[in-house]
Amino acid sequence: MARIVFDKVSKVYGNGTRALNGLDLTVEDGEFVVVTGPSGSGKTTLLRLIAGLEIPTEGGLSIDGTNVAGAPPEERNVAMVFQNYALYPHLSVFENMAFGIRLAKLSAEVIKQRVKEAATLLQLGDVLDHAPRDLSGGQRQRVAVGRALVREPRIFLFDEPLSNLDAALRAHLRAVIRNRHEETGATTVYVTHTAAEAAEAGDRIVELRDGCLVENSGVAGLESVGFMGS
Ligand code: ADP
Repeated sequence: MARIVFDKVSKVYGNGTRALNGLDLTVEDGEFVVVTGPSGSGKTTLLRLIAGLEIPTEGGLSIDGTNVAGAPPEERNVAMVFQNYALYPHLSVFENMAFGIRLAKLSAEVIKQRVKEAATLLQLGDVLDHAPRDLSGGQRQRVAVGRALVREPRIFLFDEPLSNLDAALRAHLRAVIRNRHEETGATTVYVTHTAAEAAEAGDRIVELRDGCLVENSGVAGLESVGFMGS
């Protein structure tokens, strides 16, 4: 499985922005960690480093004791839900959700079963043959979540996955994500700036500020820095 260790990791982008600054963070195998913090604090960068979409400028990043700093995304077995959905516009909802597991060469029957199950949980059963352009923002966001849920990765990464949904659907999907985490045992890192979501979703909350970890905080800590009710 997957224990993730950031050892004094810094990430400086080409324009000189220091998005992470000497970050030390360990996510234990099978843990569900919620990462919170204000906009620009480095949350997305942290996920992109785990996924292999960015390379640390300094420091070491290991998964299960292996330094992965230079390993390409396809070798990491990570499922990431991006904030901007990134759906394939020319593929149906079904094919968008099936895409990753088709690459894994699962049988057509298994693919169909997994996509249908996920679509039911995500309340997308009626739109499986639609194109992304025919969906609402909230539906598109759920397709992106579904694309991750059909997989059985070592690591799930979620970047504000429920921001476009109403409160009831959000609560439902948080439970769906939590259940999937428990069924698969996959290490999960979940980014949100919403305190209520942070408090309910995970085993542990960590908070970033200016690319550094602020002390591990509970909900009281979030309240003191102004995240409550956002
Ligand atoms: P968060 O997810 O907490 O909002 P990000 O990780 O997206 O934070 O961004 C951290 C900082 O890095 C911000 O100042 C952002 O503008 C900057 N940044 C993010 N991606 C890039 C990029 N590709 N090129 C240059 N700067 C970037």
